[in-house]
Amino acid sequence: MRDTSSKTNSEDTATDPGLPVSCECGYIRLRTPSSTPLGTAHCHCTACRKQSASLFGSSVYFPAEQVFPLPAELEAKLSVFSHPTDSGSTMNCYFCPKCGVRILHAITLPDGNLRASVSFKGGAIDSGLDWKSLNTKHIFTRSAVMKIPEEWECHETYPGS
Ligand SMILES: [Zn+2]
Ligand SMILES: [Zn+2]
Repeated sequence: MRDTSSKTNSEDTATDPGLPVSCECGYIRLRTPSSTPLGTAHCHCTACRKQSASLFGSSVYFPAEQVFPLPAELEAKLSVFSHPTDSGSTMNCYFCPKCGVRILHAITLPDGNLRASVSFKGGAIDSGLDWKSLNTKHIFTRSAVMKIPEEWECHETYPGS
């Protein structure tokens, strides 16, 4: 969301254990690369309603370079559902093959590179984020099917796009 100048430097990453992430059944367990995400968003797009099987999807963004390549052991356990995006990129959705919970989304751009940020699914993060104090944006609100409190920051689509 924000530019990468706010990313955690390598010194912090060395001492920061990150946030614990798990699926519903516990087969998938990992940690985010740090405990300080680039940003957070609740997305009301139609794809996020389906991927979350709920009324919106919650994303917690981290620098792609801190997450990929995935550790081989983790990559072997995760399943991936990929689909094209409107902008010609490919959305790769990593999920638990046993319980189906989405863990992580990463976008491959048309040139083959990863988009600069990847998103962990908010509900998969077990602890360490204080959602009540985070300034979480609501995005793709043009597709929202629920009432959004007026005091929340809203964007009709993706901010900056
Ligand atoms: Zn699972
Ligand atoms: Zn979405």
